[in-house]
Amino acid sequence: MYVVAITGGIGSGKTTVANQFATLGIEVIDADLIAREVVEPGTPALTAIANHFGPSILDEQGRLDRRVLRERIFSEPAAKHWLNALLHPLIRSEMLSQCAAASSPYCLLVVPLLVENRLMALADRVLVIDVDEATQIERTCRRDGVSRAQAEAILAAQASRAERLAVADDVLDNQSGTSETILARILALHETYLAFATQQAR
Ligand code: ATP
Repeated sequence: MYVVAITGGIGSGKTTVANQFATLGIEVIDADLIAREVVEPGTPALTAIANHFGPSILDEQGRLDRRVLRERIFSEPAAKHWLNALLHPLIRSEMLSQCAAASSPYCLLVVPLLVENRLMALADRVLVIDVDEATQIERTCRRDGVSRAQAEAILAAQASRAERLAVADDVLDNQSGTSETILARILALHETYLAFATQQAR
């Protein structure tokens, strides 16, 4: 399976762009969704987490209490390390198996933290959704109703625009031009990926 990873900072438009590829019939696999699935009630990972952190890490319904987990991780760096060592391989192998099972000519893997977690090797091609920081902040504030300071803090904790562009095979400008121009860019990328996928299959 030819895998195109799509990444970008908060509010850059990853979901919006991935939805456009989905309307073209391309299967979209979402790393954030997988990260939640691997710790659903009944999974071995959730059992391991409850054993490690104690029952206070679960809510009344037996689900992972993310707020409590965030606090534990924040105050104990070793806990974060332990958790990443448990979850990252699981998430990675689930992403790979979902990509392998995809039935479209190529698949799109949405990985918001591709650069931060150095996951470029999972994909044949890396597509970066690019907007400037001011646009990221403006769109995030409007979408999430958060303050400018909150949006800026999230941006500061992520990889920089330059770091993302450095790993890009393709860059989608999701800022300049009309929505028609942006759609045309997506269609052109789609044609390119179809051609690459066909070449690889030969
Ligand atoms: P996150 O990483 O926070 O999940 P994201 O990269 O998936 O964000 P989206 O949710 O797709 O980003 O887009 C962020 C906001 O910007 C949304 O409200 C979306 O409707 C809007 N948006 C996306 N693309 C454009 C565009 N080309 N023009 C104007 N608004 C846009």
